[in-house]
Amino acid sequence: MVALLPPEPKIQLVQTLGAEAARAAAARADSVILWLPPAVAAGSWPRGLPWLAALRAAAARATRPRCGEVLLDTDVAEGTRLVRVVAACIADDAEPFARLELARRLAARALAVRAREVCVWAPGAGRRTGALLEAGAAALLAAAQPMPSLAGEPPPAPSLRRVRLAGHARRLELAATLAGAHGNHLARWLAALPPNVLTPEAYVRAARRLARRHGWRVRFLDRRALARAGAGAFLAVARAGSRGAGILHLAYRPRRRAHPLLALVGKGVCFDTGGVNLKPARHMQGMHGDMQGSAVALGTLAALTELGWPGPVDAWLAIAENLVGPEAYRPHEVVRAADGTTIEVVHTDAEGRMLLADTLALASRARPAAIIDYATLTGACIYALGSRMSGVFSNRRALLETLAEAGRASGERVWPFPTEPDYDEALRSDIADVKQCTLEGEADHILAARFLARFVPVGTPWVHVDLAAAEHEGGLAHVPTRFTGFGVRWTLALLGDVRRRARLLGEAA
Ligand SMILES: [Zn+2]
Repeated sequence: MVALLPPEPKIQLVQTLGAEAARAAAARADSVILWLPPAVAAGSWPRGLPWLAALRAAAARATRPRCGEVLLDTDVAEGTRLVRVVAACIADDAEPFARLELARRLAARALAVRAREVCVWAPGAGRRTGALLEAGAAALLAAAQPMPSLAGEPPPAPSLRRVRLAGHARRLELAATLAGAHGNHLARWLAALPPNVLTPEAYVRAARRLARRHGWRVRFLDRRALARAGAGAFLAVARAGSRGAGILHLAYRPRRRAHPLLALVGKGVCFDTGGVNLKPARHMQGMHGDMQGSAVALGTLAALTELGWPGPVDAWLAIAENLVGPEAYRPHEVVRAADGTTIEVVHTDAEGRMLLADTLALASRARPAAIIDYATLTGACIYALGSRMSGVFSNRRALLETLAEAGRASGERVWPFPTEPDYDEALRSDIADVKQCTLEGEADHILAARFLARFVPVGTPWVHVDLAAAEHEGGLAHVPTRFTGFGVRWTLALLGDVRRRARLLGEAA
Protein backbone atom coordinates (compact mmCIF):
# COMPACT_ATOMS: atom_id res chain seq x y z
CA MET A 1 0.00 0.00 0.00
CA VAL A 2 1.12 3.54 -0.63
CA ALA A 3 2.14 5.76 2.30
CA LEU A 4 -0.33 8.44 3.39
CA LEU A 5 2.44 10.97 3.88
CA PRO A 6 5.32 11.73 1.52
CA PRO A 7 8.79 10.44 2.42
CA GLU A 8 11.01 12.73 4.49
CA PRO A 9 12.78 15.29 2.27
CA LYS A 10 16.29 14.21 1.29
CA ILE A 11 17.49 17.12 -0.82
CA GLN A 12 20.15 19.43 0.57
CA LEU A 13 20.39 23.06 -0.49
CA VAL A 14 23.96 24.40 -0.36
CA GLN A 15 25.53 27.68 -1.45
CA THR A 16 28.97 28.30 -2.92
CA LEU A 17 29.89 31.97 -2.98
CA GLY A 18 32.14 33.69 -5.55
CA ALA A 19 32.79 33.29 -9.28
CA GLU A 20 36.01 31.27 -8.87
CA ALA A 21 34.36 28.67 -6.65
CA ALA A 22 31.35 28.54 -9.02
CA ARG A 23 33.48 27.15 -11.83
CA ALA A 24 34.75 24.37 -9.58
CA ALA A 25 31.23 23.69 -8.29
CA ALA A 26 29.87 23.42 -11.84
CA ALA A 27 32.65 21.02 -12.82
CA ARG A 28 31.84 18.75 -9.86
CA ALA A 29 28.08 18.55 -10.48
CA ASP A 30 26.23 15.96 -12.58
CA SER A 31 24.13 18.68 -14.21
CA VAL A 32 24.39 22.44 -14.41
CA ILE A 33 21.52 24.88 -14.86
CA LEU A 34 23.03 27.99 -16.37
CA TRP A 35 21.14 31.27 -16.42
CA LEU A 36 22.87 33.35 -19.09
CA PRO A 37 22.56 37.13 -19.57
CA PRO A 38 20.11 38.22 -22.33
CA ALA A 39 23.07 39.45 -24.44
CA VAL A 40 23.88 35.78 -25.18
CA ALA A 41 20.93 35.61 -27.58
CA ALA A 42 22.80 38.21 -29.64
CA GLY A 43 26.04 36.24 -29.44
CA SER A 44 27.75 38.04 -26.55
CA TRP A 45 28.81 35.47 -23.93
CA PRO A 46 29.97 36.25 -20.38
CA ARG A 47 33.69 35.97 -19.81
CA GLY A 48 35.24 33.24 -17.70
CA LEU A 49 32.61 30.62 -18.54
CA PRO A 50 33.94 27.03 -18.59
CA TRP A 51 33.29 24.86 -21.66
CA LEU A 52 32.73 28.05 -23.66
CA ALA A 53 33.44 26.60 -27.12
CA ALA A 54 31.19 23.59 -26.54
CA LEU A 55 28.38 25.75 -25.18
CA ARG A 56 28.58 28.21 -28.09
CA ALA A 57 28.47 25.34 -30.55
CA ALA A 58 25.45 23.81 -28.78
CA ALA A 59 23.65 27.18 -28.74
CA ALA A 60 24.34 27.59 -32.46
CA ARG A 61 22.58 24.24 -33.08
CA ALA A 62 19.52 25.30 -31.09
CA THR A 63 16.37 25.80 -33.13
CA ARG A 64 15.18 28.80 -31.17
CA PRO A 65 18.14 30.69 -29.69
CA ARG A 66 15.85 33.19 -28.01
CA CYS A 67 15.60 34.65 -24.56
CA GLY A 68 12.79 33.01 -22.61
CA GLU A 69 13.47 29.60 -24.22
CA VAL A 70 15.86 26.81 -23.37
CA LEU A 71 18.99 27.88 -25.27
CA LEU A 72 20.95 24.69 -25.07
CA ASP A 73 20.93 21.23 -23.54
CA THR A 74 24.20 19.39 -24.06
CA ASP A 75 26.82 17.16 -22.49
CA VAL A 76 30.29 18.63 -22.01
CA ALA A 77 33.47 16.71 -21.15
CA GLU A 78 34.89 17.35 -17.69
CA GLY A 79 38.00 15.20 -17.28
CA THR A 80 36.83 11.63 -17.89
CA ARG A 81 33.13 12.29 -17.23
CA LEU A 82 30.28 14.17 -18.84
CA VAL A 83 28.37 17.05 -17.31
CA ARG A 84 24.87 17.87 -18.59
CA VAL A 85 24.57 21.61 -19.14
CA VAL A 86 21.16 23.21 -19.73
CA ALA A 87 21.01 26.94 -20.24
CA ALA A 88 18.51 29.71 -20.82
CA CYS A 89 18.38 33.45 -20.69
CA ILE A 90 15.44 35.55 -19.65
CA ALA A 91 14.65 39.23 -20.05
CA ASP A 92 15.67 41.48 -17.16
CA ASP A 93 12.08 42.61 -16.63
CA ALA A 94 10.50 39.14 -16.82
CA GLU A 95 7.82 38.38 -14.20
CA PRO A 96 8.66 35.84 -11.48
CA PHE A 97 6.06 33.50 -13.03
CA ALA A 98 7.91 33.46 -16.38
CA ARG A 99 11.19 32.81 -14.56
CA LEU A 100 9.68 29.86 -12.68
CA GLU A 101 8.11 28.41 -15.84
CA LEU A 102 11.46 28.43 -17.58
CA ALA A 103 13.14 27.03 -14.47
CA ARG A 104 10.68 24.11 -14.54
CA ARG A 105 11.73 23.23 -18.08
CA LEU A 106 15.42 23.56 -17.23
CA ALA A 107 15.02 21.39 -14.13
CA ALA A 108 13.30 18.61 -16.09
CA ARG A 109 16.24 18.48 -18.51
CA ALA A 110 18.88 18.74 -15.79
CA LEU A 111 17.33 15.82 -13.91
CA ALA A 112 16.83 13.66 -17.02
CA VAL A 113 20.34 12.19 -16.57
CA ARG A 114 19.41 11.01 -13.04
CA ALA A 115 21.64 13.69 -11.53
CA ARG A 116 22.51 13.42 -7.85
CA GLU A 117 23.96 16.91 -7.69
CA VAL A 118 22.76 19.87 -9.76
CA CYS A 119 24.53 23.22 -9.75
CA VAL A 120 22.57 26.41 -10.53
CA TRP A 121 24.68 29.33 -11.68
CA ALA A 122 23.80 32.76 -13.08
CA PRO A 123 27.06 34.35 -14.26
CA GLY A 124 26.78 38.04 -15.06
CA ALA A 125 23.20 38.35 -13.79
CA GLY A 126 23.94 41.23 -11.44
CA ARG A 127 21.02 42.23 -9.24
CA ARG A 128 18.86 39.41 -10.62
CA THR A 129 21.23 36.68 -9.44
CA GLY A 130 19.34 35.85 -6.24
CA ALA A 131 15.95 35.58 -7.97
CA LEU A 132 17.35 33.35 -10.74
CA LEU A 133 19.10 31.01 -8.33
CA GLU A 134 15.98 30.85 -6.17
CA ALA A 135 13.84 29.95 -9.20
CA GLY A 136 16.27 27.16 -10.14
CA ALA A 137 16.24 25.79 -6.60
CA ALA A 138 12.43 25.93 -6.35
CA ALA A 139 12.00 24.11 -9.68
CA LEU A 140 14.55 21.41 -8.80
CA LEU A 141 12.97 20.83 -5.40
CA ALA A 142 9.50 20.54 -6.97
CA ALA A 143 10.65 18.19 -9.74
CA ALA A 144 12.77 15.87 -7.62
CA GLN A 145 10.16 14.98 -5.01
CA PRO A 146 8.37 11.67 -5.61
CA MET A 147 4.62 11.39 -6.20
CA PRO A 148 2.55 8.45 -4.90
CA SER A 149 2.35 5.35 -7.09
CA LEU A 150 0.51 2.05 -6.67
CA ALA A 151 2.04 0.48 -9.78
CA GLY A 152 3.73 -2.92 -9.39
CA GLU A 153 6.81 -1.36 -10.85
CA PRO A 154 6.75 2.20 -9.49
CA PRO A 155 8.77 4.88 -11.26
CA PRO A 156 12.38 5.02 -10.06
CA ALA A 157 12.91 7.09 -6.92
CA PRO A 158 14.22 10.59 -7.64
CA SER A 159 18.01 10.69 -7.72
CA LEU A 160 18.66 14.30 -6.64
CA ARG A 161 20.43 14.69 -3.32
CA ARG A 162 22.00 18.13 -3.52
CA VAL A 163 21.19 21.46 -5.14
CA ARG A 164 24.20 23.74 -5.20
CA LEU A 165 23.65 27.43 -5.84
CA ALA A 166 26.85 29.02 -7.02
CA GLY A 167 28.56 32.22 -8.04
CA HIS A 168 26.69 34.81 -5.99
CA ALA A 169 28.46 37.26 -3.69
CA ARG A 170 26.29 37.01 -0.56
CA ARG A 171 24.40 34.16 1.09
CA LEU A 172 20.75 33.95 0.05
CA GLU A 173 17.93 33.54 2.55
CA LEU A 174 16.33 30.34 1.26
CA ALA A 175 14.59 28.90 4.30
CA ALA A 176 11.18 29.89 2.90
CA THR A 177 11.99 28.32 -0.48
CA LEU A 178 12.84 25.04 1.21
CA ALA A 179 9.96 25.05 3.71
CA GLY A 180 7.56 26.12 0.95
CA ALA A 181 8.74 23.26 -1.26
CA HIS A 182 8.12 20.77 1.55
CA GLY A 183 4.65 22.20 2.29
CA ASN A 184 3.78 22.23 -1.41
CA HIS A 185 4.95 18.64 -1.82
CA LEU A 186 2.80 17.52 1.11
CA ALA A 187 -0.24 19.16 -0.52
CA ARG A 188 0.46 17.60 -3.93
CA TRP A 189 1.10 14.15 -2.47
CA LEU A 190 -2.18 14.15 -0.55
CA ALA A 191 -4.12 15.43 -3.58
CA ALA A 192 -2.76 12.66 -5.81
CA LEU A 193 -3.77 9.84 -3.44
CA PRO A 194 -6.80 7.87 -4.70
CA PRO A 195 -10.06 8.44 -2.80
CA ASN A 196 -10.12 4.87 -1.47
CA VAL A 197 -6.70 5.54 0.09
CA LEU A 198 -7.18 9.09 1.35
CA THR A 199 -10.57 8.52 2.97
CA PRO A 200 -11.62 11.04 5.62
CA GLU A 201 -10.49 8.57 8.33
CA ALA A 202 -7.11 8.10 6.68
CA TYR A 203 -6.70 11.84 6.16
CA VAL A 204 -7.31 12.56 9.84
CA ARG A 205 -4.89 9.78 10.79
CA ALA A 206 -2.21 11.25 8.50
CA ALA A 207 -2.74 14.74 9.90
CA ARG A 208 -2.47 13.43 13.46
CA ARG A 209 0.85 11.84 12.57
CA LEU A 210 2.07 15.20 11.23
CA ALA A 211 0.81 16.89 14.38
CA ARG A 212 2.94 14.58 16.54
CA ARG A 213 5.95 15.29 14.36
CA HIS A 214 5.47 19.07 14.52
CA GLY A 215 4.15 19.40 18.07
CA TRP A 216 0.71 20.75 17.10
CA ARG A 217 -2.28 20.44 19.40
CA VAL A 218 -5.07 18.41 17.85
CA ARG A 219 -8.81 18.52 18.33
CA PHE A 220 -11.15 16.54 16.08
CA LEU A 221 -14.78 17.58 15.95
CA ASP A 222 -16.57 14.42 14.88
CA ARG A 223 -20.27 14.19 14.00
CA ARG A 224 -21.32 14.15 17.62
CA ALA A 225 -19.23 17.19 18.52
CA LEU A 226 -20.47 18.99 15.41
CA ALA A 227 -24.08 18.21 16.33
CA ARG A 228 -23.44 19.73 19.77
CA ALA A 229 -21.93 22.79 18.07
CA GLY A 230 -25.03 23.08 15.88
CA ALA A 231 -22.99 22.70 12.68
CA GLY A 232 -25.99 21.68 10.56
CA ALA A 233 -24.53 22.88 7.26
CA PHE A 234 -21.46 20.66 7.60
CA LEU A 235 -23.52 17.71 8.84
CA ALA A 236 -25.96 17.94 5.92
CA VAL A 237 -23.13 17.23 3.49
CA ALA A 238 -21.52 14.60 5.70
CA ARG A 239 -24.73 12.57 6.12
CA ALA A 240 -24.18 10.27 3.14
CA GLY A 241 -20.41 10.03 3.56
CA SER A 242 -18.12 7.88 5.67
CA ARG A 243 -18.07 8.09 9.44
CA GLY A 244 -14.70 9.77 9.45
CA ALA A 245 -15.99 13.19 8.40
CA GLY A 246 -15.38 16.10 10.73
CA ILE A 247 -13.49 19.31 11.36
CA LEU A 248 -9.87 18.85 12.33
CA HIS A 249 -8.40 21.71 14.35
CA LEU A 250 -4.60 21.84 14.50
CA ALA A 251 -2.93 24.48 16.67
CA TYR A 252 0.68 25.65 16.34
CA ARG A 253 1.74 27.52 19.48
CA PRO A 254 5.37 28.67 19.45
CA ARG A 255 7.04 30.09 22.53
CA ARG A 256 8.03 33.30 20.72
CA ARG A 257 4.98 35.34 19.78
CA ALA A 258 5.70 38.38 17.66
CA HIS A 259 2.44 38.08 15.69
CA PRO A 260 -1.24 37.64 16.62
CA LEU A 261 -3.29 34.51 15.92
CA LEU A 262 -3.72 33.59 12.25
CA ALA A 263 -6.34 31.06 11.14
CA LEU A 264 -6.02 28.92 8.00
CA VAL A 265 -9.18 27.16 6.84
CA GLY A 266 -9.38 24.55 4.08
CA LYS A 267 -11.98 22.57 2.17
CA GLY A 268 -11.18 18.86 2.42
CA VAL A 269 -13.64 16.95 0.26
CA CYS A 270 -11.89 13.60 -0.26
CA PHE A 271 -14.28 12.78 -3.08
CA ASP A 272 -17.02 14.88 -4.64
CA THR A 273 -19.68 13.05 -6.64
CA GLY A 274 -21.87 16.14 -6.60
CA GLY A 275 -24.34 14.38 -4.28
CA VAL A 276 -27.90 13.73 -5.49
CA ASN A 277 -27.27 16.44 -8.12
CA LEU A 278 -24.76 13.95 -9.49
CA LYS A 279 -21.88 15.18 -11.62
CA PRO A 280 -21.55 13.76 -15.15
CA ALA A 281 -18.49 11.52 -15.65
CA ARG A 282 -16.34 14.18 -17.22
CA HIS A 283 -16.82 16.54 -14.29
CA MET A 284 -16.28 13.82 -11.70
CA GLN A 285 -12.75 13.23 -13.02
CA GLY A 286 -10.13 14.50 -10.60
CA MET A 287 -12.65 14.95 -7.77
CA HIS A 288 -10.32 13.16 -5.33
CA GLY A 289 -8.40 16.45 -5.53
CA ASP A 290 -11.33 18.37 -4.07
CA MET A 291 -9.49 18.27 -0.73
CA GLN A 292 -6.65 20.46 -1.96
CA GLY A 293 -7.76 23.55 -0.03
CA SER A 294 -7.28 21.67 3.23
CA ALA A 295 -3.99 20.20 2.01
CA VAL A 296 -2.73 23.70 1.22
CA ALA A 297 -3.74 24.88 4.71
CA LEU A 298 -1.94 21.84 6.15
CA GLY A 299 1.15 22.35 3.95
CA THR A 300 1.27 26.01 4.91
CA LEU A 301 1.03 25.17 8.61
CA ALA A 302 3.88 22.65 8.19
CA ALA A 303 5.99 25.23 6.33
CA LEU A 304 5.38 27.93 8.96
CA THR A 305 6.32 25.42 11.67
CA GLU A 306 9.52 24.49 9.82
CA LEU A 307 10.35 28.21 9.56
CA GLY A 308 9.72 28.73 13.27
CA TRP A 309 7.05 31.35 12.52
CA PRO A 310 6.86 33.52 15.65
CA GLY A 311 3.10 33.56 16.17
CA PRO A 312 0.22 31.21 16.88
CA VAL A 313 -1.50 29.62 13.87
CA ASP A 314 -4.68 27.56 13.73
CA ALA A 315 -5.55 25.25 10.85
CA TRP A 316 -9.17 24.18 10.49
CA LEU A 317 -9.65 21.36 7.98
CA ALA A 318 -13.19 20.57 6.83
CA ILE A 319 -12.82 16.87 5.99
CA ALA A 320 -15.72 15.01 4.37
CA GLU A 321 -16.98 13.31 1.22
CA ASN A 322 -19.92 14.39 -0.93
CA LEU A 323 -21.60 11.10 -1.78
CA VAL A 324 -25.00 9.75 -2.80
CA GLY A 325 -27.16 7.43 -0.71
CA PRO A 326 -30.46 7.26 1.15
CA GLU A 327 -29.10 9.67 3.76
CA ALA A 328 -27.79 12.24 1.29
CA TYR A 329 -28.96 15.84 1.65
CA ARG A 330 -31.35 17.16 -1.00
CA PRO A 331 -32.30 20.43 -2.70
CA HIS A 332 -34.92 22.42 -0.73
CA GLU A 333 -33.78 21.14 2.64
CA VAL A 334 -33.31 23.96 5.12
CA VAL A 335 -30.45 23.49 7.57
CA ARG A 336 -29.10 25.64 10.39
CA ALA A 337 -25.39 26.51 10.57
CA ALA A 338 -23.38 26.86 13.80
CA ASP A 339 -23.93 30.63 13.95
CA GLY A 340 -27.71 30.19 13.69
CA THR A 341 -28.04 31.12 9.99
CA THR A 342 -30.65 29.01 8.16
CA ILE A 343 -29.64 27.90 4.66
CA GLU A 344 -31.93 26.72 1.84
CA VAL A 345 -30.15 23.99 -0.10
CA VAL A 346 -30.38 24.55 -3.85
CA HIS A 347 -27.75 22.27 -5.42
CA THR A 348 -25.96 19.50 -3.57
CA ASP A 349 -22.77 19.95 -5.60
CA ALA A 350 -22.24 23.30 -3.85
CA GLU A 351 -21.11 21.31 -0.80
CA GLY A 352 -17.87 23.20 -0.26
CA ARG A 353 -19.58 26.37 0.93
CA MET A 354 -21.77 24.33 3.29
CA LEU A 355 -18.73 22.73 4.92
CA LEU A 356 -16.83 26.01 5.05
CA ALA A 357 -19.78 27.94 6.51
CA ASP A 358 -19.55 26.02 9.78
CA THR A 359 -15.78 25.75 9.68
CA LEU A 360 -15.39 29.51 9.28
CA ALA A 361 -17.94 30.13 12.04
CA LEU A 362 -16.02 27.85 14.42
CA ALA A 363 -12.60 29.23 13.41
CA SER A 364 -13.88 32.77 14.07
CA ARG A 365 -14.74 31.96 17.69
CA ALA A 366 -11.04 31.96 18.59
CA ARG A 367 -10.94 35.61 17.43
CA PRO A 368 -7.99 35.34 15.03
CA ALA A 369 -6.39 38.56 13.72
CA ALA A 370 -7.07 37.26 10.19
CA ILE A 371 -8.54 34.23 8.45
CA ILE A 372 -7.37 32.82 5.12
CA ASP A 373 -9.44 30.06 3.58
CA TYR A 374 -8.48 27.89 0.61
CA ALA A 375 -10.94 25.87 -1.45
CA THR A 376 -11.38 24.28 -4.86
CA LEU A 377 -14.76 25.92 -4.69
CA THR A 378 -16.35 26.92 -8.00
CA GLY A 379 -16.30 26.11 -11.69
CA ALA A 380 -17.18 29.78 -12.24
CA CYS A 381 -13.76 30.84 -10.99
CA ILE A 382 -12.13 28.49 -13.51
CA TYR A 383 -14.38 29.84 -16.31
CA ALA A 384 -13.31 33.35 -15.34
CA LEU A 385 -9.56 32.79 -14.97
CA GLY A 386 -8.72 29.42 -16.48
CA SER A 387 -6.46 27.28 -14.30
CA ARG A 388 -3.40 29.54 -14.49
CA MET A 389 -4.38 31.79 -11.61
CA SER A 390 -6.59 31.52 -8.56
CA GLY A 391 -9.26 33.98 -7.48
CA VAL A 392 -9.06 36.01 -4.27
CA PHE A 393 -11.82 37.71 -2.34
CA SER A 394 -11.76 39.66 0.90
CA ASN A 395 -13.99 41.57 3.27
CA ARG A 396 -11.21 44.22 3.27
CA ARG A 397 -11.03 45.80 -0.16
CA ALA A 398 -7.74 47.52 0.75
CA LEU A 399 -6.08 44.10 1.04
CA LEU A 400 -6.71 43.03 -2.55
CA GLU A 401 -3.69 44.72 -4.12
CA THR A 402 -1.46 43.26 -1.40
CA LEU A 403 -2.81 39.77 -2.14
CA ALA A 404 -2.21 40.19 -5.88
CA GLU A 405 1.30 41.50 -5.21
CA ALA A 406 2.16 38.36 -3.19
CA GLY A 407 0.91 36.41 -6.21
CA ARG A 408 3.18 38.24 -8.63
CA ALA A 409 6.18 37.89 -6.30
CA SER A 410 5.70 34.18 -5.63
CA GLY A 411 4.69 33.15 -9.16
CA GLU A 412 1.45 31.72 -7.69
CA ARG A 413 -0.70 34.40 -9.23
CA VAL A 414 -4.06 35.43 -7.81
CA TRP A 415 -6.63 37.82 -9.21
CA PRO A 416 -9.15 39.77 -7.12
CA PHE A 417 -12.93 39.64 -7.61
CA PRO A 418 -15.58 41.97 -6.22
CA THR A 419 -17.69 41.09 -3.20
CA GLU A 420 -20.23 43.93 -3.35
CA PRO A 421 -23.30 43.43 -1.10
CA ASP A 422 -25.92 43.77 -3.86
CA TYR A 423 -24.85 40.33 -5.18
CA ASP A 424 -26.77 39.00 -2.17
CA GLU A 425 -30.05 39.63 -4.02
CA ALA A 426 -29.44 36.42 -5.97
CA LEU A 427 -29.25 34.47 -2.70
CA ARG A 428 -32.51 35.74 -1.21
CA SER A 429 -34.67 32.85 0.04
CA ASP A 430 -38.43 32.76 0.69
CA ILE A 431 -38.03 30.27 3.49
CA ALA A 432 -34.58 30.69 5.05
CA ASP A 433 -32.00 33.39 5.82
CA VAL A 434 -30.06 32.65 2.65
CA LYS A 435 -29.94 30.39 -0.37
CA GLN A 436 -26.86 28.21 -0.73
CA CYS A 437 -26.40 29.19 -4.40
CA THR A 438 -28.44 29.71 -7.58
CA LEU A 439 -29.15 27.29 -10.39
CA GLU A 440 -28.27 29.89 -13.01
CA GLY A 441 -24.63 29.79 -11.94
CA GLU A 442 -23.97 33.39 -12.97
CA ALA A 443 -20.98 34.77 -11.01
CA ASP A 444 -21.10 31.73 -8.75
CA HIS A 445 -17.56 32.39 -7.47
CA ILE A 446 -18.70 35.80 -6.25
CA LEU A 447 -21.95 34.44 -4.80
CA ALA A 448 -19.95 31.74 -3.00
CA ALA A 449 -17.70 34.42 -1.49
CA ARG A 450 -20.74 36.50 -0.47
CA PHE A 451 -22.26 33.39 1.12
CA LEU A 452 -19.06 32.56 3.04
CA ALA A 453 -18.62 36.16 4.21
CA ARG A 454 -21.78 35.77 6.33
CA PHE A 455 -19.98 33.31 8.59
CA VAL A 456 -17.01 35.57 9.36
CA PRO A 457 -17.54 38.47 11.80
CA VAL A 458 -17.22 41.83 10.02
CA GLY A 459 -14.47 42.78 12.49
CA THR A 460 -12.21 39.94 11.29
CA PRO A 461 -10.12 40.48 8.14
CA TRP A 462 -10.86 37.52 5.91
CA VAL A 463 -9.29 36.30 2.67
CA HIS A 464 -10.89 33.62 0.54
CA VAL A 465 -8.85 31.85 -2.14
CA ASP A 466 -10.84 30.00 -4.82
CA LEU A 467 -8.18 27.60 -6.08
CA ALA A 468 -8.82 27.66 -9.83
CA ALA A 469 -5.12 26.82 -10.31
CA ALA A 470 -5.16 23.72 -8.07
CA GLU A 471 -5.08 21.49 -11.13
CA HIS A 472 -3.27 22.45 -14.33
CA GLU A 473 -2.31 19.90 -16.97
CA GLY A 474 1.46 19.76 -17.41
CA GLY A 475 2.20 21.75 -14.26
CA LEU A 476 2.32 25.45 -13.47
CA ALA A 477 5.19 27.84 -12.75
CA HIS A 478 7.99 25.76 -11.14
CA VAL A 479 5.70 22.81 -10.25
CA PRO A 480 5.69 19.97 -12.85
CA THR A 481 2.66 17.95 -11.72
CA ARG A 482 -1.06 18.24 -12.58
CA PHE A 483 -2.01 18.87 -8.96
CA THR A 484 -0.09 22.04 -8.23
CA GLY A 485 -0.34 22.53 -4.46
CA PHE A 486 -1.01 26.15 -5.38
CA GLY A 487 -1.23 28.43 -2.35
CA VAL A 488 1.58 27.43 0.02
CA ARG A 489 4.24 29.52 -1.70
CA TRP A 490 1.78 32.40 -2.16
CA THR A 491 0.91 32.42 1.54
CA LEU A 492 4.59 32.41 2.53
CA ALA A 493 5.15 35.38 0.20
CA LEU A 494 2.21 37.15 1.84
CA LEU A 495 3.40 36.48 5.40
CA GLY A 496 7.14 36.72 4.76
CA ASP A 497 7.09 40.34 3.64
CA VAL A 498 6.92 42.89 6.48
CA ARG A 499 4.57 45.31 4.75
CA ARG A 500 2.18 42.68 3.39
CA ARG A 501 2.07 40.86 6.71
CA ALA A 502 1.38 44.09 8.58
CA ARG A 503 -1.56 44.86 6.29
CA LEU A 504 -3.07 41.41 6.71
CA LEU A 505 -2.62 41.08 10.46
CA GLY A 506 -3.25 44.75 11.28
CA GLU A 507 0.22 45.25 12.71
CA ALA A 508 2.37 48.39 12.60
CA ALA A 509 4.73 47.98 9.62
ZN1 LIG B 1 -19.08 19.89 -5.38
